Amino acid sequence: MPFAGVCGRVCTHPCELECERRNVDEPVSIRSLKRFMADYELRVGREKATPIEKTREDKVAIIGSGPAGLACAYDLVRQGYPVTVFEAAPQSGGLLRYGIPEYRLPNRVVENEIAYIEELGVEIKTNTPVKNLGDVFNQGYKAIFLGTGAGVSQKMGIPNEDTMGVVHALDFLRQVSLGVKVELGERVAVIGGGNAAIDAARVAQRLGAKKVSIIYRRSRVEMPADKTEVEQAEREGVKMHILAAPVRILTKDNQLIGIQCIRMELGEPDASGRRRPIPVKGSEFNMDVDNVIIAIGQVVDKAMLPRELDFTNWGTLSVDPVTLQTSIEGIFAAGDVVSGPADVIAAITAGKEAAISIDRYLSGASLTEGRPETVKRVKEVSKEGVEPKGRQPMPTLELEKRVGFTEVELGFDEKMAIEEAKRCLNCAVCSECLECVKACELKVINQEMEEEIVEVDVGNIIVATGYDAFDPSSLYHYGYGRLDNVVTGLEFERMVSASGPTGGNILLKDGTEPQAVAIIHCVGSRDKNYHKYCSRVCCMYALKYSHLIKEKTSAEVYQMYMDMRCFGKGYEEFYERLSEEGVYFIRAKVGEITNRAVTDEEKGKLVVVSEDTLLGSIIRVPVDMVILCTALEARSDADKVARLFSLSRSPDGFFLERHPKLDPVATMTDGTFVVGCCQGPKDIPDTVAQASAAAARALAMISAGTIEIEAAIATIDEQLCSGCLICNLLCPYKAISFDKEKKVSQINEALCKGCGVCVAACPTGAITGRHFTTEQIMAEIEGVLV
Ligand code: FAD
Repeated sequence: MPFAGVCGRVCTHPCELECERRNVDEPVSIRSLKRFMADYELRVGREKATPIEKTREDKVAIIGSGPAGLACAYDLVRQGYPVTVFEAAPQSGGLLRYGIPEYRLPNRVVENEIAYIEELGVEIKTNTPVKNLGDVFNQGYKAIFLGTGAGVSQKMGIPNEDTMGVVHALDFLRQVSLGVKVELGERVAVIGGGNAAIDAARVAQRLGAKKVSIIYRRSRVEMPADKTEVEQAEREGVKMHILAAPVRILTKDNQLIGIQCIRMELGEPDASGRRRPIPVKGSEFNMDVDNVIIAIGQVVDKAMLPRELDFTNWGTLSVDPVTLQTSIEGIFAAGDVVSGPADVIAAITAGKEAAISIDRYLSGASLTEGRPETVKRVKEVSKEGVEPKGRQPMPTLELEKRVGFTEVELGFDEKMAIEEAKRCLNCAVCSECLECVKACELKVINQEMEEEIVEVDVGNIIVATGYDAFDPSSLYHYGYGRLDNVVTGLEFERMVSASGPTGGNILLKDGTEPQAVAIIHCVGSRDKNYHKYCSRVCCMYALKYSHLIKEKTSAEVYQMYMDMRCFGKGYEEFYERLSEEGVYFIRAKVGEITNRAVTDEEKGKLVVVSEDTLLGSIIRVPVDMVILCTALEARSDADKVARLFSLSRSPDGFFLERHPKLDPVATMTDGTFVVGCCQGPKDIPDTVAQASAAAARALAMISAGTIEIEAAIATIDEQLCSGCLICNLLCPYKAISFDKEKKVSQINEALCKGCGVCVAACPTGAITGRHFTTEQIMAEIEGVLV
């Protein structure tokens, strides 16, 4: 969806009303998180979009460059259509630019998001009002989208409304955003209770008006404006006169001197469901004001639209509610011009829906088939164990700094965004928006697929379930999760990846390049409190990181190691090379990573405090980024997997091979092999070698067609078996099952390894070890002694 930065700021966020988290405490602040992501991209620098290839011949004309028009253009250009947007105003964006003021929606955000749409290949012609749609068709356009908005302020129809000093909100806001100097007196009254009224009042305040009042005819509860905006307006000093309506503009010598109002009371609900305001007889009162701004709504400018089109009784364009086609074939419309004044997200959604219709229309497909789509709702989500935790409050600019049009809401910092995102209940892992289904050209995504258990007969099993990365948060003194720019090796890998969040650039949280980086070895490895073993790969990848940092930045690199383990082909040479490249190798035991500076040099830095184990002294190394080379550990589900495949585990938790030297990929269960890091930490070449070995072993068994099994296995005398099931539970190879009909246990000879556990445990002596009976052993001993 286009306009993440715009929606992240001004969206009316209907999604939050549906958020499952509301059933625990408060909905997730989806809007603010969207803003955070958009701002982050803007801060680190967005990559220029790659233009979409024009694969379709039919040209589409979009009239109006507000959110509806641009959303429609965005979807069509991505489908390969040549799209031109015609805009009457000097700049594109519609009310995003000429309505919503800068302190809520900065122009740089709107410009960046429109630039992205242009980079994709949409042509925008500004200062180009379209007056005749026939001309557009004559220029070769095969379909037209009308997103012309509702840009004319509604009149009140009260006496003296045309007096100098009375302005309409949209004209007022448009002039301010165009940079036209607008003269206002000290006392300003704004009529209305919607977003436009609040915006007009706050803009008037910013232009220097001393006393700004809002006059609204219903109660505060009925005010359609965003509640937060109303609160902010009041904090800034705007006064609310609720349950009051203007009766006439007061003039003296044709000069505006005030406004006469009447008190209202609320009666029965009207068609909108809100209680109808009724004037209280004889309650008129006067207010002395220098300006009146009327903000009671906007209407569609019919003069700009062809007469042949059908209109509703409310003066909006009449369209088919599903296809959004107007009364003229090939002309589609959406946004405020159809709905009347609504909101940005409704305009975007409708613009996208119109794009679907236009594509179908130009492809000769049915406009209606399969529409409207049934919305798939997420099923009931478990809230078990979810601790109530309110949403992160949006930081705002201090009141005294609210001069000019500086943005008031400041956005989440990274820590707040992470905290807020953690409140998400992950309703459906993915949100099932089904965008991927639409985008996939090969149509391979099937959302209807249900989870099923499939039984497959196999002769060999290769277990390659990998490892978990050690979570360094438990090492509090390393500051991971607490201090900015302390990252794990995996996070660093992601950063240097070309498809990663920084496009492969090594950057700090604030988007700048580090001047010094420390790489800490053995985090969670070779540590008796966590894992005693060496994770084997860290020294090597730490060297690789040093090389990358040196290559991509001018930063100094400090390797803090216990001892360098550069075994294997070419690794020692790589280590030597990096020493020559100027990487500092410090044999150190790191005690703490802190941001508490003790010298000027350390201010604003992360300080790695450690003992230099060669010099025997405490050292403090100030750096900008710290990379933690964390341990590789057995997966958290290793126990479950081990039980499933009858595998044994070594004390470090990894799966145990049959023999560490002579049979490193086989397990005690014939036909089951373990490869890669699930068997123990190892690097890619070792993993590949082990995987090839396991494949060869499996193929050898398959090609032989038969397998040899142990001769000395257990047997059960069914006459003696009491069916107590003790042996079933004890067998480490799951070789014993219970025959429910005969009520006796049975041995699977292919699985039994003759370990004798069941023989020793059987209370009735029904189980014996074949070729291993007392008589046989005695006979063997006698044979030896004779
Ligand atoms: P518009 O944004 O009005 O764009 C229509 C465009 O068409 C304009 O650029 C116009 O110049 C152009 N045009 C018209 N006729 C022609 C023609 N003949 N030829 C060429 N171009 C033409 N919504 C929210 O969700 N959150 C908010 O906080 C919010 N605040 C608002 C504050 C104010 C003061 C106002 C007025 C509205 C606010 N809205 C808000 C509503 C929101 O801005 C609109 O619902 C939305 O912009 C409608 O989009 P649109 O594309 O239909 O029309």
